Amino acid sequence: MLSYWEQQSLINYDHIVIGSGIVGLSTAIELKERYPGASVLVLERGLLPTGASSRNAGFACMGSVTELLDYLYTMTEAEILELYDWRKKGLEKLRNRLGDTNIGYVANGSYELLSQSDIEEGVVEKIEYLNGLLQPITHKPAFKLANDKIEIFGFSTNYTKALIENTCEGELHTGKMLRALMQMALQLGVEIKTGAEVVRFDETERYVSVEIKDNSRNEILALHGDTLSICTNAFTKQLLPEEDVIPGRGQVLITQPIEGLKFKGVYHMDKGYYYFREIDGRVLIGGGRNLDFEAETTTEFALTEQVQIALERKLHEIILPGTPYLIEQRWAGIMAFGKTCSPIVKQFSDKVFGAFRMGGMGVALGSEVGMKLADIVSSR
Ligand SMILES: Cc1cc2nc3c(=O)[nH]c(=O)nc-3n(C[C@H](O)[C@H](O)[C@H](O)COP(=O)(O)OP(=O)(O)OC[C@H]3O[C@@H](n4cnc5c(N)ncnc54)[C@H](O)[C@@H]3O)c2cc1C
Repeated sequence: MLSYWEQQSLINYDHIVIGSGIVGLSTAIELKERYPGASVLVLERGLLPTGASSRNAGFACMGSVTELLDYLYTMTEAEILELYDWRKKGLEKLRNRLGDTNIGYVANGSYELLSQSDIEEGVVEKIEYLNGLLQPITHKPAFKLANDKIEIFGFSTNYTKALIENTCEGELHTGKMLRALMQMALQLGVEIKTGAEVVRFDETERYVSVEIKDNSRNEILALHGDTLSICTNAFTKQLLPEEDVIPGRGQVLITQPIEGLKFKGVYHMDKGYYYFREIDGRVLIGGGRNLDFEAETTTEFALTEQVQIALERKLHEIILPGTPYLIEQRWAGIMAFGKTCSPIVKQFSDKVFGAFRMGGMGVALGSEVGMKLADIVSSR
Protein backbone atom coordinates (compact mmCIF):
# COMPACT_ATOMS: atom_id res chain seq x y z
CA MET A 1 0.00 0.00 0.00
CA LEU A 2 1.71 3.20 -1.16
CA SER A 3 1.14 6.68 0.23
CA TYR A 4 0.20 9.52 -2.11
CA TRP A 5 3.70 10.99 -1.67
CA GLU A 6 5.46 7.75 -2.41
CA GLN A 7 3.29 7.27 -5.46
CA GLN A 8 4.04 10.82 -6.66
CA SER A 9 7.80 11.00 -6.06
CA LEU A 10 9.46 7.72 -5.14
CA ILE A 11 8.52 4.99 -7.57
CA ASN A 12 9.03 6.33 -11.11
CA TYR A 13 12.40 6.28 -12.85
CA ASP A 14 13.65 6.84 -16.37
CA HIS A 15 16.09 3.92 -16.21
CA ILE A 16 16.19 1.00 -13.79
CA VAL A 17 19.21 -1.32 -13.68
CA ILE A 18 19.15 -4.61 -11.76
CA GLY A 19 22.47 -5.69 -10.23
CA SER A 20 25.24 -3.57 -8.67
CA GLY A 21 28.18 -5.59 -9.97
CA ILE A 22 30.70 -4.15 -12.43
CA VAL A 23 28.26 -4.42 -15.32
CA GLY A 24 25.22 -2.92 -13.58
CA LEU A 25 27.19 0.01 -12.14
CA SER A 26 28.98 0.65 -15.45
CA THR A 27 25.65 0.63 -17.29
CA ALA A 28 24.11 3.06 -14.79
CA ILE A 29 27.13 5.39 -15.06
CA GLU A 30 26.99 5.30 -18.85
CA LEU A 31 23.27 6.10 -18.86
CA LYS A 32 23.69 8.96 -16.40
CA GLU A 33 26.61 10.38 -18.40
CA ARG A 34 24.50 10.36 -21.55
CA TYR A 35 21.34 11.66 -19.88
CA PRO A 36 22.39 13.79 -16.87
CA GLY A 37 18.82 14.92 -16.28
CA ALA A 38 17.40 11.39 -16.26
CA SER A 39 16.68 9.43 -13.10
CA VAL A 40 18.74 6.22 -12.96
CA LEU A 41 18.19 3.60 -10.26
CA VAL A 42 20.30 0.51 -9.47
CA LEU A 43 18.58 -2.28 -7.54
CA GLU A 44 20.79 -4.75 -5.66
CA ARG A 45 19.39 -7.67 -3.72
CA GLY A 46 22.30 -7.84 -1.26
CA LEU A 47 23.40 -5.20 1.23
CA LEU A 48 26.70 -5.52 -0.64
CA PRO A 49 27.02 -6.61 -4.28
CA THR A 50 26.43 -10.35 -4.02
CA GLY A 51 27.68 -12.15 -7.09
CA ALA A 52 31.20 -12.07 -8.54
CA SER A 53 32.32 -8.44 -8.69
CA SER A 54 33.19 -8.11 -5.00
CA ARG A 55 34.50 -11.65 -4.63
CA ASN A 56 36.92 -12.14 -7.52
CA ALA A 57 40.72 -12.28 -7.69
CA GLY A 58 41.29 -8.87 -9.25
CA PHE A 59 43.13 -9.99 -12.37
CA ALA A 60 42.64 -7.39 -15.10
CA CYS A 61 42.08 -10.42 -17.30
CA MET A 62 42.80 -10.56 -21.02
CA GLY A 63 43.18 -14.37 -21.24
CA SER A 64 46.11 -16.76 -20.91
CA VAL A 65 47.53 -18.83 -23.78
CA THR A 66 45.81 -22.08 -22.79
CA GLU A 67 42.49 -20.33 -22.12
CA LEU A 68 42.51 -18.54 -25.47
CA LEU A 69 43.45 -21.78 -27.24
CA ASP A 70 40.55 -23.49 -25.45
CA TYR A 71 38.15 -20.87 -26.83
CA LEU A 72 38.89 -22.20 -30.33
CA TYR A 73 36.75 -25.27 -29.52
CA THR A 74 33.59 -23.16 -29.22
CA MET A 75 34.35 -19.83 -30.89
CA THR A 76 35.62 -18.60 -34.25
CA GLU A 77 38.81 -16.55 -34.49
CA ALA A 78 36.69 -13.48 -35.25
CA GLU A 79 34.62 -14.01 -32.09
CA ILE A 80 37.76 -14.45 -29.99
CA LEU A 81 39.23 -11.25 -31.42
CA GLU A 82 36.04 -9.34 -30.68
CA LEU A 83 36.00 -10.57 -27.08
CA TYR A 84 39.69 -9.73 -26.64
CA ASP A 85 39.08 -6.27 -28.07
CA TRP A 86 36.18 -5.69 -25.65
CA ARG A 87 38.40 -6.68 -22.73
CA LYS A 88 41.15 -4.31 -23.85
CA LYS A 89 38.75 -1.41 -24.34
CA GLY A 90 36.95 -2.23 -21.10
CA LEU A 91 40.16 -2.12 -19.09
CA GLU A 92 41.19 1.17 -20.70
CA LYS A 93 37.78 2.62 -19.91
CA LEU A 94 37.89 1.41 -16.29
CA ARG A 95 41.37 2.87 -15.74
CA ASN A 96 40.56 6.18 -17.41
CA ARG A 97 37.23 6.51 -15.66
CA LEU A 98 38.35 5.78 -12.11
CA GLY A 99 42.14 6.32 -12.13
CA ASP A 100 44.80 3.68 -11.44
CA THR A 101 45.42 4.76 -7.84
CA ASN A 102 41.74 4.58 -6.94
CA ILE A 103 41.40 1.01 -8.21
CA GLY A 104 44.85 -0.20 -7.14
CA TYR A 105 45.78 -0.97 -10.74
CA VAL A 106 49.37 -2.08 -11.29
CA ALA A 107 51.14 -4.10 -13.97
CA ASN A 108 53.41 -6.28 -11.88
CA GLY A 109 53.53 -8.96 -14.55
CA SER A 110 51.27 -11.80 -15.57
CA TYR A 111 52.39 -15.35 -16.22
CA GLU A 112 51.11 -18.82 -16.98
CA LEU A 113 52.72 -21.92 -15.49
CA LEU A 114 52.84 -24.79 -17.98
CA SER A 115 52.82 -28.40 -16.78
CA GLN A 116 54.27 -31.41 -18.58
CA SER A 117 50.90 -32.17 -20.14
CA ASP A 118 50.62 -28.58 -21.47
CA ILE A 119 54.06 -29.04 -23.05
CA GLU A 120 52.97 -32.35 -24.60
CA GLU A 121 49.88 -30.65 -26.03
CA GLY A 122 52.19 -28.27 -27.91
CA VAL A 123 51.17 -25.10 -26.06
CA VAL A 124 54.62 -23.47 -26.43
CA GLU A 125 54.56 -23.97 -30.20
CA LYS A 126 51.17 -22.22 -30.40
CA ILE A 127 52.40 -18.97 -28.81
CA GLU A 128 53.42 -17.57 -32.20
CA TYR A 129 50.02 -18.37 -33.68
CA LEU A 130 48.23 -16.52 -30.86
CA ASN A 131 50.60 -13.56 -31.03
CA GLY A 132 49.84 -13.30 -34.75
CA LEU A 133 46.10 -13.58 -34.19
CA LEU A 134 46.05 -10.87 -31.50
CA GLN A 135 48.58 -8.54 -33.16
CA PRO A 136 45.93 -6.24 -34.75
CA ILE A 137 44.68 -5.47 -31.22
CA THR A 138 47.80 -5.72 -29.08
CA HIS A 139 50.27 -4.21 -31.61
CA LYS A 140 52.98 -6.20 -29.81
CA PRO A 141 53.57 -9.87 -29.00
CA ALA A 142 51.09 -10.65 -26.22
CA PHE A 143 53.02 -13.70 -25.01
CA LYS A 144 56.66 -14.69 -24.59
CA LEU A 145 58.54 -17.43 -22.77
CA ALA A 146 60.02 -16.42 -19.41
CA ASN A 147 61.48 -19.71 -18.18
CA ASP A 148 64.36 -17.93 -16.46
CA LYS A 149 61.87 -16.63 -13.88
CA ILE A 150 60.64 -20.03 -12.68
CA GLU A 151 63.41 -20.38 -10.11
CA ILE A 152 63.49 -16.67 -9.26
CA PHE A 153 59.81 -16.90 -8.31
CA GLY A 154 60.47 -20.11 -6.37
CA PHE A 155 57.90 -22.32 -8.11
CA SER A 156 58.25 -26.09 -8.08
CA THR A 157 60.14 -27.27 -11.15
CA ASN A 158 58.50 -30.67 -10.77
CA TYR A 159 55.29 -29.06 -11.97
CA THR A 160 56.42 -25.92 -13.82
CA LYS A 161 58.03 -26.97 -17.08
CA ALA A 162 57.69 -23.56 -18.75
CA LEU A 163 56.53 -20.05 -17.87
CA ILE A 164 54.76 -17.79 -20.36
CA GLU A 165 54.69 -14.06 -19.75
CA ASN A 166 51.54 -12.18 -20.75
CA THR A 167 52.55 -8.63 -21.65
CA CYS A 168 48.98 -7.31 -21.79
CA GLU A 169 47.55 -8.12 -18.38
CA GLY A 170 47.59 -6.27 -15.06
CA GLU A 171 45.95 -6.47 -11.67
CA LEU A 172 43.80 -4.34 -9.43
CA HIS A 173 42.30 -4.20 -5.95
CA THR A 174 38.76 -5.51 -6.38
CA GLY A 175 37.38 -3.81 -3.27
CA LYS A 176 38.82 -0.40 -4.16
CA MET A 177 37.60 -0.75 -7.74
CA LEU A 178 34.04 -1.53 -6.73
CA ARG A 179 33.95 1.25 -4.13
CA ALA A 180 35.27 3.75 -6.70
CA LEU A 181 32.65 2.60 -9.21
CA MET A 182 29.87 3.01 -6.63
CA GLN A 183 31.16 6.44 -5.59
CA MET A 184 31.27 7.59 -9.16
CA ALA A 185 27.71 6.40 -9.76
CA LEU A 186 26.51 8.21 -6.63
CA GLN A 187 28.39 11.39 -7.51
CA LEU A 188 26.74 11.44 -10.91
CA GLY A 189 23.36 11.16 -9.20
CA VAL A 190 22.61 7.48 -9.75
CA GLU A 191 20.42 6.09 -6.94
CA ILE A 192 21.44 2.71 -5.52
CA LYS A 193 19.00 0.70 -3.43
CA THR A 194 20.44 -2.34 -1.67
CA GLY A 195 18.52 -5.19 -0.07
CA ALA A 196 16.18 -4.89 -3.05
CA GLU A 197 15.62 -8.27 -4.66
CA VAL A 198 13.69 -8.07 -7.89
CA VAL A 199 11.32 -11.03 -8.06
CA ARG A 200 9.72 -10.29 -11.43
CA PHE A 201 9.10 -7.61 -14.00
CA ASP A 202 6.14 -6.87 -16.17
CA GLU A 203 5.97 -4.68 -19.22
CA THR A 204 3.03 -2.36 -19.85
CA GLU A 205 2.59 0.09 -22.71
CA ARG A 206 3.87 2.99 -20.57
CA TYR A 207 6.58 1.47 -18.41
CA VAL A 208 8.23 -1.66 -17.01
CA SER A 209 6.93 -2.57 -13.58
CA VAL A 210 9.79 -3.96 -11.48
CA GLU A 211 8.62 -5.92 -8.47
CA ILE A 212 10.75 -6.05 -5.33
CA LYS A 213 10.33 -8.10 -2.20
CA ASP A 214 9.90 -5.50 0.58
CA ASN A 215 10.34 -7.41 3.82
CA SER A 216 9.80 -4.38 6.06
CA ARG A 217 6.32 -3.83 4.66
CA ASN A 218 5.74 -7.51 4.05
CA GLU A 219 4.58 -6.80 0.51
CA ILE A 220 5.77 -6.61 -3.07
CA LEU A 221 6.71 -3.08 -4.08
CA ALA A 222 6.46 -2.20 -7.78
CA LEU A 223 8.79 0.50 -9.14
CA HIS A 224 8.31 1.81 -12.67
CA GLY A 225 11.04 2.38 -15.24
CA ASP A 226 10.89 3.68 -18.79
CA THR A 227 13.63 1.13 -19.43
CA LEU A 228 14.93 -1.88 -17.52
CA SER A 229 18.50 -3.23 -17.82
CA ILE A 230 19.08 -6.68 -16.34
CA CYS A 231 22.71 -7.09 -15.19
CA THR A 232 22.32 -10.06 -12.89
CA ASN A 233 25.00 -12.33 -14.41
CA ALA A 234 24.79 -15.83 -12.85
CA PHE A 235 21.34 -15.13 -11.40
CA THR A 236 19.74 -14.09 -14.67
CA LYS A 237 17.63 -17.22 -15.19
CA GLN A 238 15.43 -16.16 -12.28
CA LEU A 239 14.25 -13.20 -14.40
CA LEU A 240 14.98 -14.46 -17.93
CA PRO A 241 14.54 -18.25 -17.77
CA GLU A 242 15.14 -18.82 -21.50
CA GLU A 243 18.68 -17.43 -21.53
CA ASP A 244 21.77 -19.64 -21.83
CA VAL A 245 23.32 -18.86 -18.44
CA ILE A 246 24.89 -21.51 -16.25
CA PRO A 247 26.21 -20.56 -12.80
CA GLY A 248 29.71 -21.60 -11.77
CA ARG A 249 31.02 -21.21 -8.26
CA GLY A 250 34.56 -19.94 -7.74
CA GLN A 251 36.31 -20.64 -4.43
CA VAL A 252 39.25 -18.62 -3.18
CA LEU A 253 41.61 -18.45 -0.21
CA ILE A 254 44.18 -15.90 0.91
CA THR A 255 47.21 -16.35 3.15
CA GLN A 256 48.54 -14.08 5.84
CA PRO A 257 51.48 -11.88 4.72
CA ILE A 258 54.46 -14.10 3.84
CA GLU A 259 57.94 -12.93 4.74
CA GLY A 260 60.31 -12.92 1.76
CA LEU A 261 57.64 -13.80 -0.80
CA LYS A 262 59.55 -14.17 -4.06
CA PHE A 263 56.99 -13.03 -6.60
CA LYS A 264 54.53 -10.28 -7.45
CA GLY A 265 51.98 -10.21 -10.25
CA VAL A 266 49.23 -12.58 -11.38
CA TYR A 267 49.48 -16.22 -12.46
CA HIS A 268 47.36 -18.73 -14.36
CA MET A 269 47.68 -22.48 -14.51
CA ASP A 270 45.80 -25.57 -15.67
CA LYS A 271 43.90 -23.86 -18.53
CA GLY A 272 42.73 -21.11 -16.19
CA TYR A 273 41.10 -23.53 -13.76
CA TYR A 274 43.57 -22.31 -11.13
CA TYR A 275 44.93 -18.80 -10.65
CA PHE A 276 46.95 -17.05 -7.98
CA ARG A 277 48.45 -13.65 -7.27
CA GLU A 278 50.39 -11.60 -4.79
CA ILE A 279 48.42 -8.95 -2.93
CA ASP A 280 49.66 -6.98 0.11
CA GLY A 281 52.51 -9.51 0.55
CA ARG A 282 50.01 -12.39 0.67
CA VAL A 283 49.09 -15.08 -1.85
CA LEU A 284 45.51 -15.31 -3.07
CA ILE A 285 44.66 -18.53 -4.90
CA GLY A 286 41.40 -19.67 -6.46
CA GLY A 287 39.91 -22.21 -8.81
CA GLY A 288 39.35 -25.93 -8.79
CA ARG A 289 35.85 -25.78 -10.32
CA ASN A 290 36.93 -28.52 -12.74
CA LEU A 291 37.31 -31.03 -9.87
CA ASP A 292 33.54 -31.42 -9.74
CA PHE A 293 31.73 -29.40 -12.38
CA GLU A 294 28.36 -30.68 -11.26
CA ALA A 295 28.77 -29.65 -7.63
CA GLU A 296 30.21 -26.26 -8.65
CA THR A 297 27.32 -25.51 -11.03
CA THR A 298 25.46 -23.72 -8.30
CA THR A 299 24.46 -20.27 -7.04
CA GLU A 300 25.25 -21.24 -3.43
CA PHE A 301 28.07 -19.28 -1.80
CA ALA A 302 29.50 -22.30 0.02
CA LEU A 303 33.00 -23.77 0.33
CA THR A 304 33.78 -27.43 -0.26
CA GLU A 305 36.50 -29.50 1.33
CA GLN A 306 37.53 -31.01 -2.00
CA VAL A 307 38.27 -27.66 -3.67
CA GLN A 308 39.83 -26.06 -0.59
CA ILE A 309 42.20 -29.00 -0.14
CA ALA A 310 43.17 -28.80 -3.82
CA LEU A 311 43.93 -25.07 -3.48
CA GLU A 312 46.08 -25.72 -0.43
CA ARG A 313 47.95 -28.49 -2.23
CA LYS A 314 48.76 -26.20 -5.16
CA LEU A 315 50.07 -23.63 -2.69
CA HIS A 316 52.12 -26.13 -0.76
CA GLU A 317 53.50 -28.20 -3.65
CA ILE A 318 53.84 -25.79 -6.57
CA ILE A 319 53.65 -22.15 -5.55
CA LEU A 320 55.31 -21.98 -2.12
CA PRO A 321 57.35 -25.18 -1.82
CA GLY A 322 59.31 -25.05 1.42
CA THR A 323 57.89 -21.67 2.47
CA PRO A 324 55.78 -21.57 5.63
CA TYR A 325 52.45 -19.74 5.43
CA LEU A 326 49.11 -19.46 7.24
CA ILE A 327 45.71 -19.18 5.61
CA GLU A 328 43.70 -16.17 6.74
CA GLN A 329 40.42 -16.17 4.86
CA ARG A 330 38.34 -18.19 2.39
CA TRP A 331 35.32 -17.24 0.31
CA ALA A 332 33.25 -18.11 -2.73
CA GLY A 333 31.65 -16.11 -5.54
CA ILE A 334 29.38 -17.04 -8.41
CA MET A 335 30.27 -16.66 -12.10
CA ALA A 336 28.13 -17.16 -15.19
CA PHE A 337 28.99 -19.36 -18.16
CA GLY A 338 27.29 -20.57 -21.32
CA LYS A 339 27.91 -22.34 -24.60
CA THR A 340 30.54 -19.77 -25.58
CA CYS A 341 32.73 -17.39 -23.59
CA SER A 342 31.11 -14.27 -25.08
CA PRO A 343 28.81 -12.21 -22.89
CA ILE A 344 25.17 -11.73 -23.80
CA VAL A 345 24.33 -8.06 -24.46
CA LYS A 346 20.92 -7.60 -26.01
CA GLN A 347 17.53 -5.99 -26.26
CA PHE A 348 14.60 -8.17 -25.21
CA SER A 349 11.76 -5.79 -26.03
CA ASP A 350 11.11 -2.10 -26.53
CA LYS A 351 11.88 -1.40 -22.85
CA VAL A 352 13.83 -4.40 -21.52
CA PHE A 353 17.56 -4.97 -22.05
CA GLY A 354 20.24 -7.14 -20.52
CA ALA A 355 24.00 -7.75 -20.23
CA PHE A 356 25.20 -10.85 -18.42
CA ARG A 357 27.20 -14.13 -18.66
CA MET A 358 30.58 -12.57 -18.01
CA GLY A 359 32.47 -15.83 -17.45
CA GLY A 360 35.61 -15.90 -15.33
CA MET A 361 37.06 -12.69 -16.81
CA GLY A 362 34.59 -9.88 -16.30
CA VAL A 363 36.84 -7.35 -14.59
CA ALA A 364 38.39 -5.88 -17.74
CA LEU A 365 35.32 -6.63 -19.83
CA GLY A 366 32.67 -5.12 -17.53
CA SER A 367 33.06 -1.44 -18.45
CA GLU A 368 32.88 -2.13 -22.18
CA VAL A 369 29.82 -4.34 -21.74
CA GLY A 370 28.15 -1.58 -19.69
CA MET A 371 28.86 0.84 -22.53
CA LYS A 372 27.50 -1.56 -25.16
CA LEU A 373 24.32 -2.04 -23.15
CA ALA A 374 23.88 1.71 -22.70
CA ASP A 375 24.36 2.09 -26.48
CA ILE A 376 21.47 -0.30 -27.10
CA VAL A 377 19.26 1.36 -24.47
CA SER A 378 20.06 4.79 -25.97
CA SER A 379 19.23 3.72 -29.51
CA ARG A 380 15.71 2.50 -28.70
C1 LIG B 1 36.11 -16.38 -7.26
C2 LIG B 1 36.08 -15.55 -8.50
C3 LIG B 1 37.27 -15.08 -9.05
C4 LIG B 1 37.23 -14.29 -10.20
N1 LIG B 1 38.40 -13.74 -10.62
C5 LIG B 1 38.38 -12.89 -11.67
C6 LIG B 1 39.55 -12.20 -12.06
O1 LIG B 1 40.58 -12.30 -11.40
N2 LIG B 1 39.51 -11.42 -13.15
C7 LIG B 1 38.36 -11.26 -13.88
O2 LIG B 1 38.37 -10.58 -14.89
N3 LIG B 1 37.21 -11.85 -13.50
C8 LIG B 1 37.19 -12.65 -12.41
N4 LIG B 1 36.04 -13.24 -12.01
C9 LIG B 1 34.82 -12.98 -12.79
C10 LIG B 1 34.27 -11.58 -12.56
O3 LIG B 1 34.26 -11.30 -11.18
C11 LIG B 1 32.87 -11.50 -13.16
O4 LIG B 1 32.92 -11.83 -14.54
C12 LIG B 1 32.26 -10.11 -13.03
O5 LIG B 1 32.40 -9.62 -11.72
C13 LIG B 1 30.78 -10.17 -13.38
O6 LIG B 1 30.20 -8.91 -13.13
P1 LIG B 1 28.62 -8.71 -13.22
O7 LIG B 1 28.35 -7.32 -12.85
O8 LIG B 1 28.15 -9.20 -14.55
O9 LIG B 1 28.02 -9.75 -12.21
P2 LIG B 1 27.94 -9.78 -10.55
O10 LIG B 1 29.13 -9.13 -10.02
O11 LIG B 1 27.65 -11.15 -10.23
O12 LIG B 1 26.73 -8.81 -10.32
C14 LIG B 1 25.39 -9.23 -10.42
C15 LIG B 1 24.65 -8.58 -9.27
O13 LIG B 1 23.26 -8.77 -9.47
C16 LIG B 1 22.66 -8.94 -8.21
N5 LIG B 1 21.37 -9.61 -8.42
C17 LIG B 1 21.19 -10.85 -8.95
N6 LIG B 1 19.87 -11.12 -9.02
C18 LIG B 1 19.23 -10.03 -8.54
C19 LIG B 1 17.85 -9.72 -8.36
N7 LIG B 1 16.88 -10.56 -8.72
N8 LIG B 1 17.53 -8.52 -7.82
C20 LIG B 1 18.50 -7.62 -7.46
N9 LIG B 1 19.82 -7.88 -7.61
C21 LIG B 1 20.18 -9.07 -8.15
C22 LIG B 1 23.67 -9.80 -7.46
O14 LIG B 1 23.46 -9.73 -6.06
C23 LIG B 1 24.99 -9.20 -7.93
O15 LIG B 1 25.47 -8.21 -7.04
C24 LIG B 1 36.02 -14.03 -10.86
C25 LIG B 1 34.82 -14.50 -10.31
C26 LIG B 1 34.85 -15.25 -9.14
C27 LIG B 1 33.56 -15.73 -8.57
